[in-house]
Amino acid sequence: MRQKIVAGNWKMNKTLEEAKALTFELLRLVDGTTKAKVVLCTPFPYLLPIKELLGDNKQIKVAAQNCSEHESGAYTGEVSAAMLKSMDVPYVILGHSERRQYFGEDGKLLAKKIDKALEHHVTPIFCCGEPLEIREKGTHEELVKQQIEESLFHLSGEVLEHHVVIAYEPVWAIGTGKTATSQQAQDMHAVIRKHIASKYSQTVANSIPILYGGSVGAANAKELFSNPDVDGGLVGGASLKSKDFSEIVKAI
Ligand code: PEP
Repeated sequence: MRQKIVAGNWKMNKTLEEAKALTFELLRLVDGTTKAKVVLCTPFPYLLPIKELLGDNKQIKVAAQNCSEHESGAYTGEVSAAMLKSMDVPYVILGHSERRQYFGEDGKLLAKKIDKALEHHVTPIFCCGEPLEIREKGTHEELVKQQIEESLFHLSGEVLEHHVVIAYEPVWAIGTGKTATSQQAQDMHAVIRKHIASKYSQTVANSIPILYGGSVGAANAKELFSNPDVDGGLVGGASLKSKDFSEIVKAI
């Protein structure tokens, strides 16, 4: 059985007080309702205070939204994987389309960030997904396979099998209210799994949680999560509201 995960990507939103209030609510609404792991991807400054609020909660964990490809040193404003590990942060999102688009992160750089995260035992949630023009051209499967090859295929099967989470997020569905259909999500997840099986093995492919992201909400989560290759979601906008997010978690 693959681990089911629902991750909320808070992006650059909320004051500390608002973030704490959201966490309190989630603890009340979500705790113990499913077997899914719930991951709160908070801004860096909130990782420790939110972690403290969660205490030793086994189900709800925090994640960072990025980390440096460097170990340490003169990189003003950056946060390293070693720092995340030292704060006991178990996950980090890498390769989100907003990082690719606004901060020029490409597959090669992301491979280095993945290595740093893994070196420090922080599990990467690696995002991939195509922009609208690629979907319209019909080359979306090739692009997503290439993104995975560039950033993950240097890893050993053992590492991929146990220490990586993938999130398929079609860029045209992020923050747009336009969700991929359940079939489109399932099709791409199956393509990703097949591609991993062709390079590694079916066992490796079957073990990796693949999350869907892109305008997941309380109304569409159940259908999306019911697909055999969809192991949960990476949720942006709807993760900022406790009621919506808790309903998404319960949909798994
Ligand atoms: C995201 O940013 O990863 C995301 C999926 O956002 P939204 O749910 O708002 O589309």
